[in-house]
Amino acid sequence: RHYNFCAGPAALPVAVLERARSELVDYQGRGLSVMEMSHRSDEFVAIAEKAEADFRQLLGVPENYKVLFLQGGASLQFSMLPMNLLGQGGSADFIQTGIWGKKALNEAKRLGYACHVAGSSEPNGHVAVPEHDVLRVSKDAAYLHYTSNETIGGLEFDYTPHMTREDGQSVPLVCDMSSNILSKPIDVSEFGVIYAGAQKNIGPAGLTLVVVRDDLIGRAKPDIPSLFDYQMLAEAGSMVNTPPTYAWYLAGLVFEWLRNDIGGLTAMDAINQRKSDKLYAAIEASDFYSNPIAEQNRSRMNVPFVLADSALDKAFLQEADQAGLLNLKGHRSVGGMRASLYNAVPEEAVDALVAFMADFEKRRG
Ligand code: PLP
Repeated sequence: RHYNFCAGPAALPVAVLERARSELVDYQGRGLSVMEMSHRSDEFVAIAEKAEADFRQLLGVPENYKVLFLQGGASLQFSMLPMNLLGQGGSADFIQTGIWGKKALNEAKRLGYACHVAGSSEPNGHVAVPEHDVLRVSKDAAYLHYTSNETIGGLEFDYTPHMTREDGQSVPLVCDMSSNILSKPIDVSEFGVIYAGAQKNIGPAGLTLVVVRDDLIGRAKPDIPSLFDYQMLAEAGSMVNTPPTYAWYLAGLVFEWLRNDIGGLTAMDAINQRKSDKLYAAIEASDFYSNPIAEQNRSRMNVPFVLADSALDKAFLQEADQAGLLNLKGHRSVGGMRASLYNAVPEEAVDALVAFMADFEKRRG
């Protein structure tokens, strides 16, 4: 297998793929594949419950939160969030630090909800997140949304933006954690809602996880589709309709791998820190490669960088591909390169990339 630096769908742990292969045709002697099971069968319900329990244990999800296993991607949450949290009025507040946060804001606006920008890194070109003390929430803020890691820009929050309204009420925090969930321990009790598309650190595309505090459930207007209603989804155990059963099972295998093979999120955090430190150090030590992000906000998951001469981009990508270093092309909206270093990317992959970059610079720089 080659090293895959794709931003998503991203690399999966080899151990997970091998386990899935071994169980693909006949799941643990049951004589059928997980893909062929009824989602209401005892076998599948056991798989689903084990996945949820492992996820809760890994992230430390308190009892007063529901974990929903949904479809529609993180993008559908851009619409479901205001539908569920603004059913009784109020404004959706946003911290803007890049392309994904902007999409979240635009979807809420599109549906006609009151929106307010509480802070933005647009003035600095999204190279540093706004400082905590410049954020301003609206008087009737029902929640504050932010993107803990902007996958395209490679900009990661180095703090949790707690905010209080003028009337003294604390504003529930809603976080799009699509590209850094499970990369390190967090305190779930600081959040009202956490959500993530699965295709980076959780499992294959087609599954979306939503962690929502109980008091934020049941605020939707009754006229929204049942499939969008957190209350109905929670009451049905995410099975209002057929859930993405195979992706749910694979996510469960990833959670087991994180718990048993890696040793949990503190251990994962240390590995991720080492991986990204190595790559940023290599970029910093060279005049040929550069990354514009302020040091405290450099993403540990997505490392964008440019070559001093963009005419060499094509050769860089071609030669990297030949060397077994896949998917280093930057997002189409920004160009350049991007190395995504999600949980399943091993440290050896970063070593190989750093060695390739040094060699390319020596030959072509
Ligand atoms: N939010 C972030 C931070 C992302 O990185 C992505 C996808 O890459 C999305 C949202 C959109 O996710 P989806 O494709 O699951 O809708």
